[in-house]
Amino acid sequence: MRAKDTELMEDIRHLKQEKNVYIIAHYYQRGEVQEIADFVGDSYAMAIAARDSECKTILVAGVDFMAQSAAILCPDKTILSPETRATCPMANSIKVEDVVNYKQEHPEACVVSYVNTPAEIKAVSDICCTSSNAEKIIRQIPEERKIFFIPDQNLAQNVSHKLGRALDYFDSCCPTHARVTKPEILELKQKYPQAPVLVHPECSPEVVAIADYIGSTAGILQYTTNSDARSFIIGTECGIMHSIRKAAPDKELFLASEELICPNMKSITLGKILYSLEQGETVITVEESIRKRAVLALEKMIDYATR
Ligand code: SF4
Repeated sequence: MRAKDTELMEDIRHLKQEKNVYIIAHYYQRGEVQEIADFVGDSYAMAIAARDSECKTILVAGVDFMAQSAAILCPDKTILSPETRATCPMANSIKVEDVVNYKQEHPEACVVSYVNTPAEIKAVSDICCTSSNAEKIIRQIPEERKIFFIPDQNLAQNVSHKLGRALDYFDSCCPTHARVTKPEILELKQKYPQAPVLVHPECSPEVVAIADYIGSTAGILQYTTNSDARSFIIGTECGIMHSIRKAAPDKELFLASEELICPNMKSITLGKILYSLEQGETVITVEESIRKRAVLALEKMIDYATR
């Protein structure tokens, strides 16, 4: 930890307490950002933490759709983003017309939107899901109903294979997880045969097919902590290594690819968080007519996920 970081962390802790701000961070954030957060989790847990916090101001250390989800679920709270340019290329790849056109052709279909989507897309979706609850959500949609899964084709194909149920899906994926390749995993497996391979379902189906465990970031963290294995091959964004090392310091971790870095997640720094707290910027809002429709899809997800 650099001396400058230690100073910034002290200033952030002091200011967030003084201003009563609750900081929530994603597992893919830099280690030092995770350290100053009041809550670290995956996108589902972040949304719930924002909703349940007693603080009136929530600072979201994550990409834009995460801050929007907090704004959608908590209209009475002030949602701050320390870096509004932190976005998700996959979330931005789908347009409202893509969903509207599909619905016109298939009016009976259920649009299941990965939480990695902008508010406008959630507003035209029937239900949201995350990587941790996608299977559970889809299981509750009647078999006879067609499903349009957006926007991650890898998650769609992996869930479809697991459930043995055909899904229509949008042709996009996470550029970070798409960098994990089968040859890289096979090479690591040969080098560390005792290490289970744990991958996120945003990885390609051919990578998922040779993994020992497929799960969300929270699932991967739990697996490494509870498993008797001493070493693991980790196939998700490198930020998760910080949380795993904290929870299970004696375990040995090998990242599946050196390319597993999301530049958008890493664009949030301690300096930007401090500035955001000092200035009360940037407040994230969602236009009310969109928010009212988007909240239905998010609340339906929470309902289905907790059944
Ligand atoms: S890791 Fe992938 S899905 Fe997550 S924010 Fe980055 S680009 Fe989007």
